[in-house]
Amino acid sequence: MNEPLCPSCGEVVKVTSSARIGSEVKCHSCSTKLEVVWLDPIELDWPLDEDETDEEYATYLDDED
Ligand SMILES: [Zn+2]
Repeated sequence: MNEPLCPSCGEVVKVTSSARIGSEVKCHSCSTKLEVVWLDPIELDWPLDEDETDEEYATYLDDED
């Protein structure tokens, strides 16, 4: 069972099994908005605003699906 840690406060963040790369989650402990950046194991990071990165992830997801 993957239990990712909040990069901001270090608490475990609950992520639903339907989460995928790019999904937004919110830390219940510090209310920081986080983004799923990897799934095996689940890793969280602060959301990126750069469009270039989003496009790269979108292409990758299409491949996985
Ligand atoms: Zn947190």
